[in-house]
Amino acid sequence: MPNQAFDESRRRLLRGRLRAAPPALRPPWSLADRFTDLCTRCGACVGACPEAILRAGDGGFPEIDFRQGECSFCAACADACPEPLFDRGADRPWTLVAAVGPSCLTARRVVCRSCGDACPESAIRFALEPNGVARPVLDASTCTGCGACLSACPVGAVTILTPSEAPHAA
Ligand code: SF4
Ligand code: SF4
Ligand code: SF4
Repeated sequence: MPNQAFDESRRRLLRGRLRAAPPALRPPWSLADRFTDLCTRCGACVGACPEAILRAGDGGFPEIDFRQGECSFCAACADACPEPLFDRGADRPWTLVAAVGPSCLTARRVVCRSCGDACPESAIRFALEPNGVARPVLDASTCTGCGACLSACPVGAVTILTPSEAPHAA
């Protein structure tokens, strides 16, 4: 049975974290807009994830932690959930997309292709810059948001963004 309506925005505001906290990344195929209304925080999805990338986050609600690994889109989380908050009929499991930030080693003229090597979709290509070092360029239309590139980056330059955080990614 769904838990009581949960006003996440208000809770964050009261904690003074509205601007600091990025939106939590929910499991694939889950209904992000209704997640905290429908999720009972039972933890079944966390225990079911073979990649161990789901953990109990803020308020006990499950969140994806890509520092632990990547999503294989096995759907074990969706299958384990007893509540109606996963839509397996959706075109895509989610709309997350990767982004490479300014701390990328190539910005300091250090050769690195770790993120590209880790990407199973070949969504990251490398474009040669005038300084002689190739920098990563992400194809957002190919990226599945799996997160494999995030833990592969030696300096934490990769983030996985929601559409609201990456308005120019499509
Ligand atoms: S789809 Fe599979 S790997 Fe991805 S979060 Fe769910 S259980 Fe984990
Ligand atoms: S299995 Fe479903 S209800 Fe239980 S914590 Fe995960 S998302 Fe929430
Ligand atoms: S999130 Fe996955 S698909 Fe997207 S660039 Fe990173 S490794 Fe490739």
